[in-house]
Amino acid sequence: MNIKMNPPNQNNGLEALHFDNRFTQELPADPEPENYRREVTGALYSQLEPTKVSQPTLIAYSREMAETLGLTPENCTSEIFLNTFSGNQLLPDMNPYATCYGGHQFGNWAGQLGDGRAINLGEVLKKKERWALQLKGAGPTPYSRSADGLAVLRSSIREFLCSEAMFHLGVPTTRALSLITTGEMVLRDMFYDGHPKKEPGAIVCRVAPSFTRFGHFQILSARGETTLLKQFMDYTLRTDFPHLGKPSKESYLAWFREVSRLTTTMVVHWMRVGFVHGVMNTDNMSILGLTIDYGPYGWLENYDPNWTPNTTDAQGRRYRFSHQAQIAQWNLLQLAYAIYPLIEEKEKLEGILNDFSEDYESQWQNMMAQKLGLGQFETETDKTLIAELLSILQVTETDMTLFYRNLANLDVKGKTSNDITNDSLIAPLLEAYYTPQNLTDAHKAQIGNWIRQYLVRLKNKGLTNETRRKKMNAVNPLYVFRNYLAQLAIEKAETGDHAMVNDLLDVLRKPYDMQTGKESYAEKRPDWARTRAGCSMLSCSS
Ligand code: AMP
Ligand code: MG
Repeated sequence: MNIKMNPPNQNNGLEALHFDNRFTQELPADPEPENYRREVTGALYSQLEPTKVSQPTLIAYSREMAETLGLTPENCTSEIFLNTFSGNQLLPDMNPYATCYGGHQFGNWAGQLGDGRAINLGEVLKKKERWALQLKGAGPTPYSRSADGLAVLRSSIREFLCSEAMFHLGVPTTRALSLITTGEMVLRDMFYDGHPKKEPGAIVCRVAPSFTRFGHFQILSARGETTLLKQFMDYTLRTDFPHLGKPSKESYLAWFREVSRLTTTMVVHWMRVGFVHGVMNTDNMSILGLTIDYGPYGWLENYDPNWTPNTTDAQGRRYRFSHQAQIAQWNLLQLAYAIYPLIEEKEKLEGILNDFSEDYESQWQNMMAQKLGLGQFETETDKTLIAELLSILQVTETDMTLFYRNLANLDVKGKTSNDITNDSLIAPLLEAYYTPQNLTDAHKAQIGNWIRQYLVRLKNKGLTNETRRKKMNAVNPLYVFRNYLAQLAIEKAETGDHAMVNDLLDVLRKPYDMQTGKESYAEKRPDWARTRAGCSMLSCSS
């Protein structure tokens, strides 16, 4: 008989993961050991184990995220990796738990929500960085309410790929290490129309320095658990914001200002790349300003500031593209209410909240100036130039991504003359129009005049075409995770073909670089995708 020993202090290949579980070591746990649905008070988290699954299969992993954690490709394709990140096996020193948070959903206080289907495995230290590992879809928790704690393949593909796409775009985001199917089927009524269907189940391992949400503070405050609120605030300062110093009213205010700034920056990035989060509830807002909880999000194809991908929000359009900054500020107001008992200085909190608008405006203007290759924003000229740009982007369906990429190809030399026809000015941009035949002479005149003004501005700037193109292409992506591409990858994966998921993962690694042979991933939405579910509209069912 061949006997193998598994010494308890080894984890068979994933030793690179050094756990240091501060959250569970320093914060109070729910004393109830059983895993049933309930209100959990006086605690930040409940301990529990992921539900075992029958047939885990690795669909994809992020090699960059793995590398950051010190894991090699061999590690990621090993059996222990599969067992660990499907929730079938715990590594020594893991200490799994689900956290308690609340939140405002669509503007209304919803009470306790919590990690209903996310189970944290522990925190890993690597090169002085802290990474919390979390399985999404690994079974019910005390916070699951009436739901099953599971996730389906389509929403897991969307979360996995979009997290990594956002990272490579330079947008602050939670990350994804792995995408694993479980072998179980999960019942979902995707259109909420009484026709539930069984779908393949999946688990994504998400990774972030911390998964703390506005809602973690809100639930403690709403319950009047002020001592615990202070304990959690001090913990957050120590772990996620150590540079802000010791706990005091001043450092709490400095913290709030920083959360506000990080949130501003995140939203400005969303506006830059054309991302609509879709469910900006306060439980989906990270205190680190990371994009979190990829649900019914979407990417602007034709530039439409009123667009929301979320069918649940189709009426009010609360979370539409152009409203994201206002919602972020409203969410920050809710966070301010939550921490008010620790500060009790209304004017100072209000001051920070009111600075948000100005900070946002100035960051947004600079971002727009960069998208246009103008460098620093110049108030007098650029305000009008940008306002008119946003208007011409809407005269007929115009693909936002392709418009900016093609704009970088304009030739500044010579073309500033008023003799040049509108048609020849617009020619380099034509690819961006969904229905170029709908461009009337009046539209063409409007667009042509804008291009003339833009070229004058560029000429004054004095950059060569090449330098400007490089600068513009570094902030205007060519490859974004278009809604229809996600849907095509999902449909293939549901038949067992995972090639497109991995191909997209690869292309989206270099979103700003033209990649030979990958042109099809940069194409505008085909006509069939215009009204197809999953492409232009998504429900919260996931
Ligand atoms: P979301 O709208 O996805 O941000 O989710 C809001 C709340 O519902 C969070 O507390 C989630 O953990 C929870 N939730 C969503 N889907 C499920 C599910 N399938 N099982 C358990 N909890 C869920
Ligand atoms: Mg959520």
